[in-house]
Amino acid sequence: RFSTATAIEDLITPPVQIRYTKHLINGQFVDAASGKTFPTYDPRSGEVIADVAEGDAEDINRAVSAARKAFDEGPWPKMSPYERSRILLRFADLVEKHSDELAALESWNCGKPYEQSAKSELPLLVRLFHYYAGWADKIHGLTVPADGEHHVQTLHEPIGVAGQIIPWNFPLIMFAWKVGPALACGNTIVLKTAEQTPLTALYVGKLFQEAGLPTGVLNIVSGYGPTAGAPLASHMDVDKIAFTGSTETGKIILELAARSNLKPVTLELGGKSPFIVCEDGDIDKAVELAHFALFFNQGQCCCAGSRTFVHERVYEEFLEKAKARAIRRVVGDPFKKGVEQGPQIDVEQFQKVLRYINSGIESNATLECGGGRLGTKGYFIEPTVFSNVQDNMLIAKDEIFGPVQTILKFNLNLSLRDLLLSTRDINEVIKRANATRYGLAAGVFTNNINTANTLTRALRAGTVWVNCFDVFDAAIPFGGYKMSGIGREKGVYSLNNYLQVKAVVTPLKNPAW
Ligand code: NAD
Repeated sequence: RFSTATAIEDLITPPVQIRYTKHLINGQFVDAASGKTFPTYDPRSGEVIADVAEGDAEDINRAVSAARKAFDEGPWPKMSPYERSRILLRFADLVEKHSDELAALESWNCGKPYEQSAKSELPLLVRLFHYYAGWADKIHGLTVPADGEHHVQTLHEPIGVAGQIIPWNFPLIMFAWKVGPALACGNTIVLKTAEQTPLTALYVGKLFQEAGLPTGVLNIVSGYGPTAGAPLASHMDVDKIAFTGSTETGKIILELAARSNLKPVTLELGGKSPFIVCEDGDIDKAVELAHFALFFNQGQCCCAGSRTFVHERVYEEFLEKAKARAIRRVVGDPFKKGVEQGPQIDVEQFQKVLRYINSGIESNATLECGGGRLGTKGYFIEPTVFSNVQDNMLIAKDEIFGPVQTILKFNLNLSLRDLLLSTRDINEVIKRANATRYGLAAGVFTNNINTANTLTRALRAGTVWVNCFDVFDAAIPFGGYKMSGIGREKGVYSLNNYLQVKAVVTPLKNPAW
């Protein structure tokens, strides 16, 4: 039924060698203390790419003590900010030099289209490090006009050893969101990668060494959540923890931090973001944007526009076109030109998405297209569209994290009186869009400036994209309301996560003199 179905049977060999599979601790690539390894897979086939050192509490202890020493004894936190900035810039240059290999490795381990890795994610990675390099020598405190005869200043100091736990959907971009601000502020780091995607972080860890980052400043441990992530979150010598992943795991991280040393926590968690199509815009553009908002990265985005609300006056036309677009979506080997969608990350996610599709069918949503596996190997899923979706269905409430678009109609059952009160329909969709435990992002498609202004202010979400989606500039803050997280990453806001503020108070006339 899909012309691309056969294309996923013969796979292109990725143009990259696996060089780094051990932990990076104290400037050395080392085996796990236990000697154990675990396999990392190619999601196109389910075959093993490489065996990687499997970290546990002992490896985390070693990495934390290296980071502690690098922080307490320097030179990193005491180095001139300009020198820190130059190391970050050198690193960005090296990433640029190795972009092709890194893009291939990222696509191989994640299953995302190579063109996406090469043309948008690698350039963004470089841009993020340029951005943070720019901050390194612009972080400073204030002089404070306090009452009384005192000179008061604030010093913005690095927080210490930062623990960072990242997910598998954007391994290199998540690396940059965490490592960039932490290093710009002068912290040292222990980073745990997701068990599905350990390879690219180790590669760029090596590039950081070449760029001249002092020993022990950036330590990278591979391993599973409960055995390597949890010991990091609960470590008494870690001064801050930053996490991106599921809301369930986010709660565990917060608890581990509270039960250990009350380290501050930033969390970037799940979402069920609304994408609202009003009746006044160009429908073809709305269809394309809503399609991109949901299907980008195999639907594996925390901010995916996963509830497509469409005004009833344009609903039928939108639906027909959205379905046709999903059917046209090119699924296949991410290394083939023109492929828009690769496989889901692993067998668990693959099965979870298929379970949600079944739940949609069982709850009487209308399956417009897709709904099944594609091919016979790997974790490919047909682009799937459901219409007639109701707010209380599981597929409208839970994060599916896959290529499944759920289309809901708004402006229903209006009385004549409601129609005369022009804000009535917009209030309905605002209420429904906000009726979720999440609040990560939202999309609005309209030509009407009043509608845009009303919606952007009423939607309870950390980002609202108007007539665009997934715009991820380094300077734009990102994070969630409600159960989508705590704190903001990127932009100037991200620096606060990695700084302590010290107030220094000195009498203007020292009584001791
Ligand atoms: P997860 O939250 O379990 O994993 C994310 C990271 O947390 C990984 O590095 C993992 O090893 C680590 N981790 C897991 N359990 C841990 C624990 N007890 N202590 C410390 N660290 C732990 O996410 P997942 O299982 O890979 O995916 C499950 C769902 O999470 C997905 O279906 C999706 O809905 C959501 N998700 C969201 C994002 C996002 O960007 N917000 C990213 C990936 C997955």
